[in-house]
Amino acid sequence: MVSFEEARSIILDSVQTIGTERIHLLEATGRVLAEDVAAPWDLPLWDNSAMDGYAVRAVDCLATPCRLRVTGFLPAGATADGITVEPGCAVRIMTGAPVPAGCDAVVPVEETDDGRQEVNLREAVKKGQHIRFHGEDVAAGIVFVRAGTVVRPPEVNMLAGFGMALLPVYRRPVVAILSTGDELVELGRTPGPGEIINSNTLSLAAAVQEAGCIPRIIGIARDNRASHLEKLGEGLKADALITSAGVSAGDCDLVRDILEELGARQLFWKVGIKPGGPTAFAMHGSTPVFSLPGNPVSTMITFEEFVRPALLRMQGRRQVLRPLFKVVLRDGLKKKPGKVQIVRLRLEKEDGRWYATSAGNQQTAILKTMVDAQALAVLPAESSGSAAGDEVYAHYYGNYIELE
Ligand code: AMP
Ligand code: MG
Repeated sequence: MVSFEEARSIILDSVQTIGTERIHLLEATGRVLAEDVAAPWDLPLWDNSAMDGYAVRAVDCLATPCRLRVTGFLPAGATADGITVEPGCAVRIMTGAPVPAGCDAVVPVEETDDGRQEVNLREAVKKGQHIRFHGEDVAAGIVFVRAGTVVRPPEVNMLAGFGMALLPVYRRPVVAILSTGDELVELGRTPGPGEIINSNTLSLAAAVQEAGCIPRIIGIARDNRASHLEKLGEGLKADALITSAGVSAGDCDLVRDILEELGARQLFWKVGIKPGGPTAFAMHGSTPVFSLPGNPVSTMITFEEFVRPALLRMQGRRQVLRPLFKVVLRDGLKKKPGKVQIVRLRLEKEDGRWYATSAGNQQTAILKTMVDAQALAVLPAESSGSAAGDEVYAHYYGNYIELE
């Protein structure tokens, strides 16, 4: 058995990105940049006005109120060629328009009488005020987003501003999903006696998508060698493979043996985590294979703690673990030392602190508390339980969370 931390580092040390592609900016949200991007030109390209108002010479406006003659008009989109602010004069200027020669300050229209032939200024004027200076945002050649950055609206805005329609990003892994077991029937069929619906495939597909990857559903491997050989073989053609069930020590648990037969190198089996202990991890060439326990709660928790970080790393993400934060327990949590324990929590905020209560029954067969959980506490292996009022570390569970 490996520890929770060992399992994570073995996985993260084994997986790699799977190549890059160029995609349009409109498709890029949530994708990860594969190259540093440098500014092709200075931003802004020229000094321009930050306000609707008047371009003036500060030296003309030392004493207020003062009156200036309006000698021109510069809307956004105009060029300032041939326009100069002469002594004692002002040019009416709109936000974003280039500042004309001679101008060293802009006076907002709100601080004037809004005159067209002449303008009266009410407030003192400081040299440089309300001008956005050439290059003050970024200078040409400066790397403004690094490889490994997740593209969000601010990155899109800046890249678009520099005219970059296509972006180099890491490819999204295709992740094969395979369930195993004779008791499973596919969604859409009514389960007969002893049968259950293959819900793990759907839940894993959702989790894979939420992690930015493309699910490829392989179906169900039945509890016999031939079926496992065929389905696992198919799954190994993807960029990563996730299996559920058939990985414990039961008579019908064939996943690990058949994977080995197909040439996978097993890096661990059994992790010091509860729920989710009988998790296995193997590499087939450069394809990671995550064999998760079949119990739906265990499947989801081991995906969250082990598979999700790996899938993010395969997309070039630097930050792959959800940030942990401290919560104060409303009730005690029982635990034996030895394994990391993941506890489903509900959260409340009071006086600026997060308080947590158990989401309810924590047994691995109880699905409802997974649905209700807003966060997962990660109790360290050595912990022998916590009392009400103790602080523990937790992370949000899922990307979308409603906190009532
Ligand atoms: P196993 O690991 O094969 O012993 O399965 C553990 C438990 O998970 C059993 O109760 C299974 O019926 C259940 N289970 C296995 N596979 C799935 C699946 N694909 N969807 C939902 N439950 C499953
Ligand atoms: Mg089974």
